[in-house]
Parts: sequence; C-alpha cells; structure tokens
Amino acid sequence: MQAQEYLNRSLKELIGGKTASALKKSFRIGTAGELLNHYPRRYAERGQLTSFDRIEIGKPVTIMATISSVTARRMKTKRGFVLVVAVTDGKDHMELTFFNQKWREKELQVGRSGLFAGTVNEYHGARTLTHPQYQLFGSSDSSDLEALNDFAGSIIPVYPSSQAITSWQIAAAVDVVLASLEQLDEPIPIDLREKYQLMDRSEAIKAIHQPESHEDIERARLRLKYQEAFVLQAVLEFRRQKRRTLSAIARKPKKHALRESFDLSLPFTLTQGQIGIGQQIEKDLRGTSPMMRLLQGDVGSGKTIVALRAMLDVVESGGQAVLLAPTEVLAAQHFESLTSLLGGLSDSGSDSVTPSKGLDPKVKTTLLTGSLPLPARKQALLDIASGNSHIVVGTHALIQDHVDFFDLGLVVVDEQHRFGVEQRAALMSKGSQGVRPHLLVMTATPIPRTTALTVFGDLDISTLTEVPSMRAAVDTHIVSQQINPSHAARVWERMQEEVIAGNRVFIVCASISESAGDLDEDPESSQLPDIAGESRDHIVSVEQSLIELAQRFPAVRFAGLHGKMKPEEKRTVMKRFRSNEADAIDVLIATTVIEVGVDIPEATMMIINNAERFGISQLHQLRGRIGRGDKPGLCILMQERLMNPVAQKRLEAVASTRDGFELAQRDLELRGEGDVLGLEQSGAATSLRLLRVIEDVALIESVRQEVDALARTDHWSQTIAAIELAEFIRVDQLEKT
Ligand code: ADP
Ligand code: MG
Repeated sequence: MQAQEYLNRSLKELIGGKTASALKKSFRIGTAGELLNHYPRRYAERGQLTSFDRIEIGKPVTIMATISSVTARRMKTKRGFVLVVAVTDGKDHMELTFFNQKWREKELQVGRSGLFAGTVNEYHGARTLTHPQYQLFGSSDSSDLEALNDFAGSIIPVYPSSQAITSWQIAAAVDVVLASLEQLDEPIPIDLREKYQLMDRSEAIKAIHQPESHEDIERARLRLKYQEAFVLQAVLEFRRQKRRTLSAIARKPKKHALRESFDLSLPFTLTQGQIGIGQQIEKDLRGTSPMMRLLQGDVGSGKTIVALRAMLDVVESGGQAVLLAPTEVLAAQHFESLTSLLGGLSDSGSDSVTPSKGLDPKVKTTLLTGSLPLPARKQALLDIASGNSHIVVGTHALIQDHVDFFDLGLVVVDEQHRFGVEQRAALMSKGSQGVRPHLLVMTATPIPRTTALTVFGDLDISTLTEVPSMRAAVDTHIVSQQINPSHAARVWERMQEEVIAGNRVFIVCASISESAGDLDEDPESSQLPDIAGESRDHIVSVEQSLIELAQRFPAVRFAGLHGKMKPEEKRTVMKRFRSNEADAIDVLIATTVIEVGVDIPEATMMIINNAERFGISQLHQLRGRIGRGDKPGLCILMQERLMNPVAQKRLEAVASTRDGFELAQRDLELRGEGDVLGLEQSGAATSLRLLRVIEDVALIESVRQEVDALARTDHWSQTIAAIELAEFIRVDQLEKT
C-alpha cells in the first residue's frame, strides 16, 4: 500500500521544481507513477555510438557520438565567435554549433564521447545541432552523468525527450524515484505470473528503466505488455458481467406476425447470415438483460434489414425502437428506405393502432431530426412520448435533447465509427427506471479481430459476410491530373458517357467552396496524421466544380450537395438524383455527406477529387455508393499531385481490393492503433504503451482466455480488487452511465 501511495507522490517534492515542471510541461507527467510509466524509447549501448543514418531534420534527437574535430572562428558578419564541433558515429559526421561560447573548447575535446541532444537542422548542407545540450562521459563535473554512470551499466536508456528536458535528465529523475520505490502491488495474479514466468511488477519497472542486459529489457517489456493486456481484458470482462446484472424488458412477440409478413414482402430472399444473426438477436431480445450486440458487415451486406426485423419484433411485443444515424441526410435516407421497405405495414397517418392490441397491425414510423420545423417536431415528440410512434429514426439530436419515450425497447445505432463509447453509454441510459433498452450497433467499417478484442470487447459481435447487394464489379483506378493529364481528361469524358447511357455519377470533393478552411464536417480526415502536409495543395471544391463542369458539359445536369445546405434542400437534391422525372440530376457533386447509406442502384461511377485527403475507410464507404445495381461500377481516385508515401499506400490499398476486412486491417497497419482504438475515449485504464494490437494479437487472445477462465473462479473479485489498487482505477466506474 505504501508503495502505491508513493506512486501518487508529486514529482515536485521528489525531484525538485525545475525538472518537475519541465516534465509536466513536456509530457504531462506529474507524479512518480507517471514518470515510471514513461518508458525509454530505445536503448543505447555504451561504447556503441548512435548511427546517424536515420536522423531526420526538424526532429529532436539524443545521440551518442565521439568528437572528431573542433574549430573556432570569428563570425564574418557579426561580432563574436562560432564554435563548430564535428562529431561522428564512426562512419558519418554531423556538426554541433555554438555561438559566442568559445569557453566550451575546454571541455569539448577531440576524442571524447558523450550524449548530445537537440533538434536537428541543416546548415550549409550539413546536419547540425545548434546549442545542443550534452553530457560527456568520464567528466567529473557532472552529477547527472554520475547518476547515469552509476545505474546504467553498459545499457543507456534513451527517453522520449523535449527541448525543455533531455533524455539523461529524465534518466536521472527516474533514478531518484526508483531509489525509494518499495514493492509495488501486483495486478497480475501469482498463478499467471508463474505460468508465464513473468517478472514481478517492481522488478519489471526497474528493469525497463535500468536494464542490466538485453534479456532484462525483453522480459520487462513482456511483463508490462502482459499487464496492459490483462488489465484491459479484465476490465472488459467485468463490464460484460456487469451488463448481465443490468435488467431489460424481454421482448417476446407471440407470433412474429409483423416480421413474417415483412419477410414475405421482400423482393429477395434473406442471406444465411441475415437469418442466423436474426435468430441470435431474437434470443437476445427474449432475455431480461440488455442485448449489447455489434453487427458488422461490409457496405451493402444488408444490415438494415437485420435491424428492421429486430425492430418489428420489439414493436409487436409492445415496445418502441429507435434508429440513430450520424447525419441528417442519412437519417432522412434511412427513414425513407425503412418506410418503403415496410410498404403496406407502414402507417404514415396518425390513427394507428398499437400492433399488440390491434387486428390490423400498422407500424408508425417517425423522423426526428434537429432541423424539423417546430410544429412537426412537437408532434413527433408527442407521438414518441405517447407510444403512438413505434419506430423513430433520427440523428444524435435524439441523444442530446430531451426525448421521452413511452417504452423504448431497442436502440439501433448505425455506423458505429462515428459514435464514441460515451455516446453509447448515454444511449443506454434512455430506458426508464434503471431498465435498459436492448442495443444493436451497426458498423460498415469491419473491425479487425484485434480491435474487437480490445475496444469493443464488451459487445457481442455478429458478422455478415455475404454482400448480396454488391453483385456488380467495381473497378478502381488512381489518376493524377499532374502526372497524366490525358487520363484525367478521359475521366471526364467517361463521366459524360455514363450519363448518356442513363447512369448516375457521384463526384466527391473535400471542400465546399474555394475559401480556405471551408471543409465539410469531416471528423475522420482531420485525424489523419499526415493531413497537414497536404493542406497546401489545391483542393477541388463543390462550388468550383459545379461552375466548371456545367460550362464544359452543358448537356449534363449537375447539382451540389454538402453539409451547409438546409436539410430540406438536401432532401430535394437527393430526391432529384434518384428520380427519372424532368427535374432529375445526372451528376451529384458532393462532400462526404454522401458517405454512408445512400442507395442509388443507377449510380455506376464515382470520381473522388483529392483522394489523398481521405482515409481508407472513408474511401471504401464512398465507393460503396456505386455498383449497387446490376451494372458494373468505376471508381476514380483523383490525386492532385505526388503524395506522401502513406497517402499513396492508402490509395493503393483501396484500389487493390473491395474487401472491407482487408482494408480495415491495412488501415490499422498504416494508422497505428491509437487512432483506430479511439483510446482517448476509452479511458485511462485502457491506455496502451507497449501493447500493439496487430503484433500482439496472439498475446491478447491468450490473455483473453486466461481472463475468461479466471472470471469463473473464486479469485475473480480479488483479482478485480488488485487491479483497482494497482492501477488506481474504479473498474465499475469506467462505464459512465
Ligand atoms: P448496409 O446497411 O449493410 O450497407 P443495406 O441494409 O442498406 O446494407 O442493404 C443494401 C442493399 O441491399 C439494399 O438495397 C437492400 O435492400 C439490399 N439487400 C439487403 N439484403 C438483401 C438480400 N438478402 N438479397 C438481396 N438484396 C439485399
Ligand atoms: Mg447501411
């Protein structure tokens, strides 16, 4: 317990104000425990100099090098001296530059080695550190270095460092903190530690910071990784258990009459997957603890049908169901497709009969979005509260605003990747008096197994593997205006040919107008790590394209669609794009508002401008809008210029396959796990430092099995208590309900 308290001690008390505030400022490290969690990035071997190969301009570095020459000369334009110190890794050279610090000549002598830290810049073609901080080996005047010499043995830890604090200053601070560290509490049970021969926690913390051998490092990393995986899986298991103790109303229709007549009305037969998952959901809904199921399936795999069949069961048993979509366009689209799918079952009038009582079952569907005119909105809210409305379709506004349901039995969330964990929790609290609605989350971004094991580990998962609506093939090509203008010109001709053949074409733009920063709401691409580098490029906008293309192709009917239009306008445009009337639209020029859900079988071609600005899953989603009918589709990824390698790889991945799972995996590899996991949302306990969801999948799976087994033993509550103590968390409070 004492050791645990020690971890919470403020660094100000332990190591002094200056270093403490540098750590706070640079890394938000404030306590002993946080410092000990700041693991070395790599290790340098004494006597083995750092290779200069991979040193990048503009990046802070810590290098171990030997001084090969020192020259002091008078500056030409200004008064004073410049001291140029060449250092070497044994092969290459780089320079250290000091202005007006001639006195440093005394200690910076040829042949001496040390650590040098600074930000690399380029000066007269040479890689240079200007005014680096340094520590020379074998110098007697340096207390920091003595500390380093004392503990480091032959392996020197190199920490993520900053302008304000060097790697060896961090090492010295860690040394002070480690010196008074007592035995730490263990989150991993002894049986597991023995079974896998894991170091104990204190040993591992000490070894990762001050290893005596490479074997030490390996064993420490393994142990700490194991701990991350173990804590994460235990927390998820705990949540699953807790969920089983929550109560929900069992939704058991007597006859499934609504669902059956719905099935009969469908113009196609359900896939095996749709039927199987339907049975699983039926079973969940009959339970008295809330269903929490993730339904994943590629774009076009028919998730909506699965959800609607579940909704009909809930409605028949007297409850209400709600379908939430991320955008207004999508909500409106869902509303229309639900109503049309329901056909004769749907009731758009107000004199509906509650199906469970009535003889002539009618399902009343209501659209509720933030932009409904007030009277309509009031009526909708009234219908929802009175139970008059059975199926409600809406946007996030439903969660945020105060909406009372008469008896909410099922929440369906479309496109999970737009919803955070907290929103999920907010939804779950919508049931009345401690009773939760059942929850079905649908995602068209298939989640790789590893992610499923981590972030979504508290949901049951069903996967639709067939894609019945995607019979048509879609070809994808990368085309660059700059590199190959004749290909680009051909793209636009092809667009016209599609239109003449009676097909529809989508053009996607990253921005609405030419004015800078007028990007449409686009949460995903703003997360792309390399997007900053692209921002100086020309961005093709909806408004500019409309003007230019209308001039060039006067016979083609164009219209724009973007997030700044009024919902009513958007709906009209979508309707015209779908229609064959005189006012029909051939080519829709849109931002990513068309990303999800839009279902236009006549659409055969999509041209995505500035494709380098979009993420893999976004491109995949966008492309899913074409090839939905019988005719093959063509998707053109237009790139504005030569891209950085990661953007290039993204486009190549999208062009190479239409398999959503494969793309999700590629995405994960290119982005790194942080983004994909949504770590910030999932709370401190799940923050991963060493664990890598791709590389460590075998470890994660093995830990998951161990945790499953452990959860069935008498030691489980003790294990949870140990985790809470060791990690300073309250496992039961992680779910913010
Ligand atoms: P998702 O939401 O998974 O992308 P949808 O539920 O919107 O897919 O379905 C895409 C299209 O496929 C819709 O037009 C739908 O009517 C159709 N569809 C769904 N299930 C089947 C099926 N079993 N056979 C043929 N078409 C289907
Ligand atoms: Mg859908």
